[in-house]
Amino acid sequence: MDLHSGLAYWIIKNELFNYFHPLENDYKIDVAIIGSGITGSLIAHELCKAGIPCAVFDKRTIGTGSTAASTAQLQYEIDIPLCEMSKIVGEDFASRAYHASLESIADVGKVLKEAKVNADYKSLSSVWLASYKKDVKLLEDEFEIRQKHGLPVEYLNEKDVLKKHNIKAPAALKNKEAAQMDCYAAATGLLKYHLKKKELELYSHTEIVDWKEVKNGYELETRRGHIIKCKYVIIATGFEAGQFLPKKVMNLLSTYALVSQPVHEDELWPERSLIWETKEPYFYMRTTIDNRIMIGGEDEEFQNPDKRDKLLRNKIKKLERQFKKVYPDIPFIVDMAWCGTFSSTADGLPYIGTWPGKDRMYFALGYGGNGITFSMIAAQIIANELSGKKDERAEVFAFDR
Ligand SMILES: Cc1cc2nc3c(=O)[nH]c(=O)nc-3n(C[C@H](O)[C@H](O)[C@H](O)COP(=O)(O)OP(=O)(O)OC[C@H]3O[C@@H](n4cnc5c(N)ncnc54)[C@H](O)[C@@H]3O)c2cc1C
Repeated sequence: MDLHSGLAYWIIKNELFNYFHPLENDYKIDVAIIGSGITGSLIAHELCKAGIPCAVFDKRTIGTGSTAASTAQLQYEIDIPLCEMSKIVGEDFASRAYHASLESIADVGKVLKEAKVNADYKSLSSVWLASYKKDVKLLEDEFEIRQKHGLPVEYLNEKDVLKKHNIKAPAALKNKEAAQMDCYAAATGLLKYHLKKKELELYSHTEIVDWKEVKNGYELETRRGHIIKCKYVIIATGFEAGQFLPKKVMNLLSTYALVSQPVHEDELWPERSLIWETKEPYFYMRTTIDNRIMIGGEDEEFQNPDKRDKLLRNKIKKLERQFKKVYPDIPFIVDMAWCGTFSSTADGLPYIGTWPGKDRMYFALGYGGNGITFSMIAAQIIANELSGKKDERAEVFAFDR
């Protein structure tokens, strides 16, 4: 699958993790993790911490899947607002999903600290704007239910939004629990850390093309014909997980992002908050450590890469116009732009855990706008289960929820 195209900023900002180490023989390991993106690297980190022998395999250059294209905002708010998700999965599950999401933001920060990875992790506020007057009711309902469930949230009326954030909008919901980072630096940094400590084996350019369930585990076959024997296999293959799934569980979409030239720090908006809007198609923005403005959204309901790429120029213009509507006085010149595959699920939740009846194949599918925090949750749930500990969050994200 062509996961992204254009000029994804992170691969230019960071030095490429130029690691070429394909599997050249048959191999045996307790846990095989397929995928070296943020999901695979967080899982590897949690398993190494728990002392579980594991190896990561990736068909690409390490970390260059969707992880390299991510705008990497960490927010507890899931794509489907809590007031709406409650109607789909029930208030209890929806609230537990939101709380798990909230906790995972700080957990990502802790993991990076533990592994001494500098991935520009920064705590920030998040501001969700009502794009139109008609959206104020949604924000009011959402404010009420989030308060009821003890989630951090502040309601800003039109005057507050203007005074505190210098934006003209009918209302907004704000919290101070969000964060942002450089997802490529995080994933590659974690893998390098455990490689250096000799706790992990990492195989690049090694595609898993087939697999067989055997007594007490799996046998995975690589494109070069080598066999990997493992007790457990973890599918951390992001939007390409379809080949391992008995049934489709996600919709694949296309999304667009760009980054501006750097501006002077004092020209940026108050608090450098993560800002996003109620309107469809989606629009959001953040800043980077080097004072660039990163914006994204304009999702399309198809995945075809050729069709997606053809729209890039037009989408850049649209995103730029959207930014100028919010902050007309901030200088903004597009520097790099890219587009990528994205995905959503019917209830906004990721799929984490085993497929019913297949107890040794775990999936860590952090689909949706919170892919990274979902990956953190997946890594913890899977590490807990492989260590024989029950994780109360598992049922909320299970395939049979
Ligand atoms: C433009 C954009 C903006 C985004 N913004 C945000 C955001 O602000 N916040 C957020 O939380 N999320 C965001 N996301 C989503 C987030 O980036 C993804 O959820 C996350 O990067 C997925 O990581 P992953 O490790 O699961 O997948 P990937 O990074 O794609 O890694 C999976 C790896 O598996 C490998 N692989 C696949 N199949 C095989 C196989 N058969 N054999 C061997 N290897 C295989 C691939 O080569 C790949 O490297 C965004 C995504 C995009 C595209």
